[in-house]
Amino acid sequence: MKLEGKVALITGASRGIGRGIAEVFAEEGADVAVNYIASGQAAEEVAAWIRSKGRRAITVQADVANRDQVEAMVDRVWNEIGPIDVLVNNAGIETIVPFLELTDEQWTRLTDVNLRGEWLCSQVFCRRVVAAGRKATIVNIGSVQAGKVLPGRTHYAPTKLGLEALTRNMSAEMTPLGIRVNCVHPGLIDTDMTAWVMKRPDLLPGILAQISLGRAGEPREIGTVTAFFASDEASYLTGQSIHVDGGWVGK
Ligand code: NAP
Repeated sequence: MKLEGKVALITGASRGIGRGIAEVFAEEGADVAVNYIASGQAAEEVAAWIRSKGRRAITVQADVANRDQVEAMVDRVWNEIGPIDVLVNNAGIETIVPFLELTDEQWTRLTDVNLRGEWLCSQVFCRRVVAAGRKATIVNIGSVQAGKVLPGRTHYAPTKLGLEALTRNMSAEMTPLGIRVNCVHPGLIDTDMTAWVMKRPDLLPGILAQISLGRAGEPREIGTVTAFFASDEASYLTGQSIHVDGGWVGK
């Protein structure tokens, strides 16, 4: 198992890609803290699934964009299941708003969660790891939109391209201190976030035609790559971003 004996905190793990990552991590031997913001019951179901595989799991509510809540989350996980070895910054939101209609509030909330939230969780985590004299890894979850234009995403796409720069720059400062940092850019993955596309027969075939594999991905297909980045098998990998998109961004 790739992650045996490791403790992982996965943000936004109550649903979708975060849940897929949590399941793969548990199967690879990790104990998992399942973060969520609103879906407490769904998070409990993920934790129960992980426990059914023989791993430890707790749920922890926190808004990744709120420093007090993030500090309380890291403290609680550290104290209840042990020093955290892996942080997966997965929590994210997407709205689709034409550029000319985008409001200050929409820009601020989305960038707060998708970019500042990943920076904030990482900083709180890294300070704790460095103070404890431990080693760790971070995996950021970006998006195919770091490299592809889709309509109505002038607020969303910059957060995901920004994660590449955040990944490289955090890696440069943190790797010498023992914390590798990498980024996974998912393509079209079948989750609540994309349910509206999957139900649009007028749109979906055109999108799938641009994807070399001709299909949407499953959350666990992001989980397996994330587990690799987080594992000691990737011991010489840091500051990298990889597209896991069935061959969409490069086509
Ligand atoms: P999703 O199904 O909408 O799930 C979002 C998850 O994030 C939920 O667990 C949600 O918690 C959590 N969350 C949202 N805001 C949060 C906050 N402020 N603090 C803490 N948790 C928060 O989304 P998804 O499709 O799994 O996407 C996961 C990540 O992958 C996102 O970063 C997204 O941008 C990225 N991504 C997705 C796709 C795709 O095709 N699905 C493609 C590229 C990138 P609650 O359940 O409590 O609301």
